[in-house]
Amino acid sequence: MALLTEVQKNYGKLKNYVNGEWIDSTSDKVIDVENPSTTESIAKVPMSTVDETKAAIEAAQEAWWAWRETPPIARARFFFKLKELMEQHFENIARIMVQEQGKTIDEARGETRRTIENVEVAAGIPSLMMGYSLEDGAAEGIDEEAIMSPLGVFGAICPFNFPAMIPYWFWPYAVATGNTYILKPSSQVPLTQWYLTKIVEQAGFPPGVMNLVNGSHEVSDTLMEHPLVKGVSFVGSSPVAKYIYKKSSENGKRVQAQGGAKNSLVVMPDAVMDRTVSNMLASYYGCAGQRCLAGSNMIAIGDIADPLLNRWVEASKRIRMGYGLDESVNMGPVVSAKAKKKVLEYIDGAQKQGAKILLDGRNAKVPGYEKGYFIGPTVIDGVTPDMTIAKEEVFGPVVSFMRMKNMDEAIDFMHKSPFGNAASIYTQNGKWARDFRYRVQCGNIGINVGIVAAMAYFPFAGYKDSFFGTLHGQGKDAISFFTDRKVVITRWF
Ligand code: NAD
Repeated sequence: MALLTEVQKNYGKLKNYVNGEWIDSTSDKVIDVENPSTTESIAKVPMSTVDETKAAIEAAQEAWWAWRETPPIARARFFFKLKELMEQHFENIARIMVQEQGKTIDEARGETRRTIENVEVAAGIPSLMMGYSLEDGAAEGIDEEAIMSPLGVFGAICPFNFPAMIPYWFWPYAVATGNTYILKPSSQVPLTQWYLTKIVEQAGFPPGVMNLVNGSHEVSDTLMEHPLVKGVSFVGSSPVAKYIYKKSSENGKRVQAQGGAKNSLVVMPDAVMDRTVSNMLASYYGCAGQRCLAGSNMIAIGDIADPLLNRWVEASKRIRMGYGLDESVNMGPVVSAKAKKKVLEYIDGAQKQGAKILLDGRNAKVPGYEKGYFIGPTVIDGVTPDMTIAKEEVFGPVVSFMRMKNMDEAIDFMHKSPFGNAASIYTQNGKWARDFRYRVQCGNIGINVGIVAAMAYFPFAGYKDSFFGTLHGQGKDAISFFTDRKVVITRWF
């Protein structure tokens, strides 16, 4: 099948968007943005300096008071406009994402839809942001109210795997509530946010309200250290999440830091085989396994193990790999040479520890894209709880197949994991499903659902090392994160 056209072959050196202007970074550190399917350089992204980040924070602070005084309904109108423009640019947003991140066009379109949904929810700000009051709340004739009040400048530090959606778990809510914003995309995938920020500019937000600063540690650290920044949102790996949480809290910032994952999908003996297998395919192989909600361990309970494994291997062989701009492709590459090396090391390690590679994607090649960072679907049998591959985040299309006697054993194994992002059970038995939901210590739980991706009006949850903080991204939790309560007691003499 012919490839969809790329929006541009090369995007040149990216600029930052600060105070309503596109500005060239003066940094001499510039890195290539690679297309992981072709390994071609498709853009250059600057590692902006501390001073450039400070200038963006100061511009955001300067813009804050006028934006804070803009009534919620007027702020909402910018988001209605933004939504309309995003719909017009829908296909380009998705294609740029495929080009820089490697996911398939279907996955990218799905992500674009989720991104827009966050804008739609944020546009409901006049209702979402209402406080509460109680007549005679303090005493007779003395009323009490709590007002949700914006705080100033917020910032986000984002990962590579969802270049469009993850920044939109945060900034639309922050800005809709009356704050101003600094966004730092992952330097591996800065193009999608560059393109989206051009749309934000067209939507007419006042200068300084939403700013984009490309870069790495210097930008993150400045956001966490600068006295004008009120809070930081982070999504990425657990060690960095822990660091961001610690450093931001030490500096007195609000912080929400979502970390890594190691998700187990448990298949009970009564699971409906066909639907379970087809549902799990997207969980393990979607986005080439680079989702924090991806299945990683597959735990078969009792005698369903052998028939399930046979079906699974057959279904896995049918996954078609390639450049995601080919609509017939089911799975793209992983994001970089470094990511590929890490995944292959996990597979090698499992083999050395005694597991059996039933389907081996280590040498998979895609004709025409031989240099691309492709790893074929990989199924590893005989994985036991003590093996490294059962415990650590792999972030690739690799299934660790485990056999257990009953659900208690599976839950006991999951309780020992430092991660608590997602877990799913496949069963027709309501009691088993209810017990699983009740006992599992994870933030996102699936019952016959393999990717528990919360809609924009629900929080994106997480337990243990998968989340540091108290309030999550998206919807009402995000509104609480980006506002503080003013409690007012009123008496009229
Ligand atoms: P990462 O932790 O390497 O990087 C995330 C961001 O942090 C990037 O913008 C990066 O520039 C910045 N960063 C990295 N090290 C830093 C440091 N020492 N100081 C300051 N900033 C630093 O993560 P990644 O590889 O981009 O993303 C993949 C990870 O994200 C996986 O572990 C995945 O599970 C996780 N993730 C979690 C969720 C969730 O909701 N829990 C969602 C998506 C991805």
